[in-house]
Amino acid sequence: MSLDLEALVARHGHDPSRLVQLLHEVVAVEGRVSPAVMTRLAEALGLPRGQVEGVVGFYSFFGSEDRGRFRVLFSDNITDEMAGAHELRQRMLDAFRVQLGEVSAHDTAGLVSIGATSCTGLCDQGPAMLVNGRAIGRLTPARIGAITSLIRGNVPVDLWPENLFVIESHVELRDLLLSTPLAPGEAIAAALSRGAAATRDEVSRSGLRGRGGAGFPAGSKWAACAAAPSPERGRVIVCNADEGEPGTFKDRELLMHHADLLVEGMTVAALAVGANTGLLYLRGEYPFLVEPLLALLAERRRAGLLGASVLGVAGFDFDIELRLGAGAYVCGEESALLESLEGRRGIPRNRPPYPVTHGYKQRPTVVNNVETLIAAALVAAHGAGFLRAVGTPQSAGTKVLSVSGDVARPGVYELPFGVRVGEVLDLAGARDTLAVQVGGPSGTLLSARELERRIAFEDVPCAGAVMVFDTTRDPLAVVENFTRFFAHESCGFCTPCRVGTTLSAQMMERVVHGEGSRRDLKDLAKVSRLMRATSHCGLGTTAGNPVLDALEKFRPAFDTRLRSREVLPTFDLDASLAPAREVTARDDAGAHFEGRDELEEEE
Ligand code: SF4
Repeated sequence: MSLDLEALVARHGHDPSRLVQLLHEVVAVEGRVSPAVMTRLAEALGLPRGQVEGVVGFYSFFGSEDRGRFRVLFSDNITDEMAGAHELRQRMLDAFRVQLGEVSAHDTAGLVSIGATSCTGLCDQGPAMLVNGRAIGRLTPARIGAITSLIRGNVPVDLWPENLFVIESHVELRDLLLSTPLAPGEAIAAALSRGAAATRDEVSRSGLRGRGGAGFPAGSKWAACAAAPSPERGRVIVCNADEGEPGTFKDRELLMHHADLLVEGMTVAALAVGANTGLLYLRGEYPFLVEPLLALLAERRRAGLLGASVLGVAGFDFDIELRLGAGAYVCGEESALLESLEGRRGIPRNRPPYPVTHGYKQRPTVVNNVETLIAAALVAAHGAGFLRAVGTPQSAGTKVLSVSGDVARPGVYELPFGVRVGEVLDLAGARDTLAVQVGGPSGTLLSARELERRIAFEDVPCAGAVMVFDTTRDPLAVVENFTRFFAHESCGFCTPCRVGTTLSAQMMERVVHGEGSRRDLKDLAKVSRLMRATSHCGLGTTAGNPVLDALEKFRPAFDTRLRSREVLPTFDLDASLAPAREVTARDDAGAHFEGRDELEEEE
């Protein structure tokens, strides 16, 4: 297949806001976005070339350099690491005699590159990898051998055995959301008969809070959007289906098996706020969901549930377009997601103004995630009491959890808010638990003494990820993995996060390898608090959480790993000073360390 750039740009209406989607198609054909293609794209879209280059460089699924015909990315998520991802990766690196991140040479010149990606969304079936964007889980030495042979044989990925790409479904426990059937159009009809304002009130009364972690009341968000002056082009409903937090995969299940409920929820939201445009922003690691979702949208259009005059109601026009992310975790932040939808780098916006008044293309916009919109559909159909009947007063309803790590039954568990963390572990078959990371790397690290804590907005909030570590695990290696994740995913816009995440990762690496000092621990805590206080968006303000939690709850693990000296220079200061000592006839090697203890105590 060759790239017909003019036809491609024309198919996207010469719309610069579709740049990310255009780049996906370029990479699918050419494997990269060459400098020449960037120039032609910039001309065709009327954009500065630097802007196109900036977007190409921002998203990890794009890039201008040739990365070979087969682009392999192993998941670097901690649960994949625990399942042996690094050993399997090394096996493949050895097979092609290539370094991590490099393109193969010698007898396989230009054939393959092998790298790492933060997470593939297959934490319940890892170790996992992406090959030319396609996900493969359940990696074993045998599977790696088979994949290596296919690459060596230059077999196009589309011709690889389909069993390699099977995505397993692991729903272990269902409650309200996953077990309540809803006929297509039922919630929309209920909302129509109730009316827009009453539907908003019903959602408010239900106590529905955003399931992305922050817990903002959905009814308040909808009311603010409905109250915002609407320009001619109308309001917008955006579904954030970009779950990228390592350890989270519940949206994959929701989108595979409950997407109809999601589209129903988006349509109810559109009615409630007066929106005519819907955008479903799908995580770039889930391209296998694109075709089923497009088919669903087409089916609902045929059934009169999307498009002009939904359910035959004149003036109720609403349609949904699918957009694909490109491997940038920060785009889960709602304003960064809007930037990405507009074809730019996913840099979080300054707020205010908020998306409810100035969102997608400055139009009033509601951004809710998959689970929130599904819950909204069920509230519209069954009333506020449906959600209020379970959970806690501050956290109504249920939470869909992705449980992974050291458990017998990893998978999706839907449980009422207020459930004890220990109960989740019992259900999933955890034994000898050392620690639990609730809410992904940006969430809360709990020790085994805290399993009575409850998953709820008022106790331990959770966007979905529950990662379990047993007593055979090294808590410092877990934290090091998380610091590496944040350093990789920081968008680089603000200094505290850009520099702080990198420093944290470097210091944690030193500590884990037994080369850290007490000074490093102090600096780790200081940097983490600084990021929390001064970063521009939630990624930076939460990036220090795992370090601070671990320092508080697993301090002995840090202390036993330190080298004995208080200060460890990154170069041999004593050796560097030796010539100076010689010419000045001094014999006081090590003198530069004197007084350091006192200085540190004063700090
Ligand atoms: Fe980017 Fe981090 Fe700053 Fe957020 S906090 S804007 S991710 S650099």
